[in-house]
Amino acid sequence: MLVPLRQIVHQVSIAPTLGDALTIAVRQARKAVRVDVCAVYLTDVEHDEYVRVAIDGLGSHSSGRARVRAGEGLVASVGERRELLVETDTMARGGNRLATDSSEKPTGSFLGTPLIHYRKLLGVLVVWKPRGHSYASDEVTFFLSLGAQLAKAVHDAEAIDAVGELLRGDSRPDAFIQGVTAAKGLAIGEALLVEAPTRLESIPDRATGDGVAEEHAFMCAVAAAQQELRRAGERMSEALPDPVRALFDVQAMLLGDDGLVSDTVERIRAGSWGPGAWRETIARHAAVFEQMEDPYLRERGADIREIGQHVLMHLESQAKAARQPPKRCILVGDTIGLAQIAAVPAGCLAGIVTMRGSPLSHTAVLARALGIPAVVSLARLPAARWEGREMLVDGDEGRVYVQPSPELLGTLGRRMQEARVRAEQLVSLRDLPAQTLDGTRVPLYANIGVPADNAAAAASGAEGIGLYRTEYRFLLCGALPVEAEQLRSYREVLTFFAPMPVTLRTLDVGGDKALSSFPLQEDNPFLGCRGIRFSLDQPELFLMQLRAMLRANAGLGNLQVLFPMVGTVGELDEALGLSARAHRELAVEGLDAARPRVGVMIEVPASVYLTGAFAKRVDFFSIGTNDLTQYLLAVDRNNAQVVTPYDTLHPAVLDAVRHVVETAHRHGKPVSVCGEMAGDPAGALLLLGIGVDSLSMSPALLPAVKRTIRCFSRMRAHLLAAAAFDMEDGFAIHRLVSGALEEIRDCAGSAATNHETAANPHAAAET
Ligand code: PEP
Ligand code: MG
Repeated sequence: MLVPLRQIVHQVSIAPTLGDALTIAVRQARKAVRVDVCAVYLTDVEHDEYVRVAIDGLGSHSSGRARVRAGEGLVASVGERRELLVETDTMARGGNRLATDSSEKPTGSFLGTPLIHYRKLLGVLVVWKPRGHSYASDEVTFFLSLGAQLAKAVHDAEAIDAVGELLRGDSRPDAFIQGVTAAKGLAIGEALLVEAPTRLESIPDRATGDGVAEEHAFMCAVAAAQQELRRAGERMSEALPDPVRALFDVQAMLLGDDGLVSDTVERIRAGSWGPGAWRETIARHAAVFEQMEDPYLRERGADIREIGQHVLMHLESQAKAARQPPKRCILVGDTIGLAQIAAVPAGCLAGIVTMRGSPLSHTAVLARALGIPAVVSLARLPAARWEGREMLVDGDEGRVYVQPSPELLGTLGRRMQEARVRAEQLVSLRDLPAQTLDGTRVPLYANIGVPADNAAAAASGAEGIGLYRTEYRFLLCGALPVEAEQLRSYREVLTFFAPMPVTLRTLDVGGDKALSSFPLQEDNPFLGCRGIRFSLDQPELFLMQLRAMLRANAGLGNLQVLFPMVGTVGELDEALGLSARAHRELAVEGLDAARPRVGVMIEVPASVYLTGAFAKRVDFFSIGTNDLTQYLLAVDRNNAQVVTPYDTLHPAVLDAVRHVVETAHRHGKPVSVCGEMAGDPAGALLLLGIGVDSLSMSPALLPAVKRTIRCFSRMRAHLLAAAAFDMEDGFAIHRLVSGALEEIRDCAGSAATNHETAANPHAAAET
């Protein structure tokens, strides 16, 4: 039974339309289990009905659509109970009450299973057997499993309105694909597909007609890979401890070894195309090592496979090099990495669309920081077919339109114009302080990741940098920047904002931010070598970064250093010890670097309860609500399927924030929030009410938060927070805060409040 199920699932997954997929499913399932009738009904919420969209086994007259009213018959009762229902000899026991619908009334033994995906009832799968026949347990399991698979197919199809089409029996112009908003705004452009790197193992066999050209392309790819390894080794000779640098040497040596190259050339000369010949050579050489007893030699198999992948990348990039990004480029991919975003020339990137990921992924964070509309989590769709097509990204509604009609472009063009007007209104707030109606100042800082963001941060009216994600530079350049390079970029941002504070966070790699030069094989990287753990594991790298930060601060004094993902006092003490050592090393060199203020991020749940101990050691706190929510609620911040349970307004998250604020304040230490919650007016309002001292967010989000702060009194925010703490679930809290925000819909926030002063010296100087 398992084999037919697998085959059906495969056929469903490759069917061109949802209608085809369901027709195949009922036909094949009926054959596999020998039932009289098999049918799928979809839920039509609008009409409170179930619509039969696929059936096999009731004769030709039954191929049309049929409708069942909710509350009537077996199909409806499966849907309402949301559970498997098996009834033998229905006519004998139930008559019309058990009929499937008004036009056909099969009798006999009924089995129905609901199609449920992520708690949503999408339809019902039903089968009938002749009277007197029962269902064996493996048959029940078969239909339960098939139901689960069909539910997923229906869910995916819902995203492209295919379910609506089936229910209505027509297709609408400008049907959209529903995803999840990652960055607001509208963008029109041409789709450019970002392909995942091909795995060497999946390269097919293919003969070549031009062996000379294949050999030449292969030799060029080898030379390019060798050169890259050599350069990386040289570039990092200062930065890396010897054992790490040796990794590059080993790979360069293996690639220089004649065996790999000559075996491949031989295969090409025997008629294979280059990638296929290379795959075969790598597989054979790696297998020799992988069978060895000695664990060290066995590991070399992995090195060989890595080299294989590396050379393949160069082979493929020769083919792709000719492809130029369009002028208004919508990047489309399964996932899109930071380096792929960085590869699009400045000014060309209009929008981002990914099949996976969530609004909390770092790609989404970067999109918001860049002010680029982004929609994520579009389910499994044939994105490859969109390459080169015109595309409209509606980041406000989380929708994507492929080949939009001129009418739609006209409507959305007007919306773009309105959004521009609103943005201009918010710009008028830039030079006003973030101050509540009752006169409380709440400094607003910017989150940035590269010096190129400086101008956007200043233009937003930020009063400094509350979070500089230093790892972005490491990730964007694909290698480890040496101390001098780091010094240059830190100095640039510190100088730009001086005397305003700039908070440089030490490397926060790991999780979804893997350094390609430090490949870590971890089953669960979000619980692995992340943040400060990575830095403490690589003290040389950490010291190099701390020295670069301290040098950059010379003569300026506006540096604040922030440690990410600290979960124990020991980690904090070690990090502080290494900071002191970096300081001493510079003093020995004669540089009298000022000691910066040092802070710790609260984002590991354990650190919430260590706030008191940390407060004795650091100058300030910054709460990372993105990770704190993820770890506190056990929901992956990158998994769009758990977007609903991922809730920064969850009572537990708010309580953790309150605990940190109260404890830190008892020790006289200020608390900032730099997670995405701070950039959301609802979150910002509650944080203000809880007593957070400052907020840090993407520059693009800052004006709206400033407006919110200027339209409320601190007392009102405090009362709202108190009311939220009486609530037991996030939905109620969302309703509460949305209601309060609705009250200020028409408040521009630009009316003068007491004690107005310019928010930041840049603004004052420029106006
Ligand atoms: C956070 O976790 O809230 C945070 C600001 O850090 P990052 O998003 O970079 O992990
Ligand atoms: Mg974090």
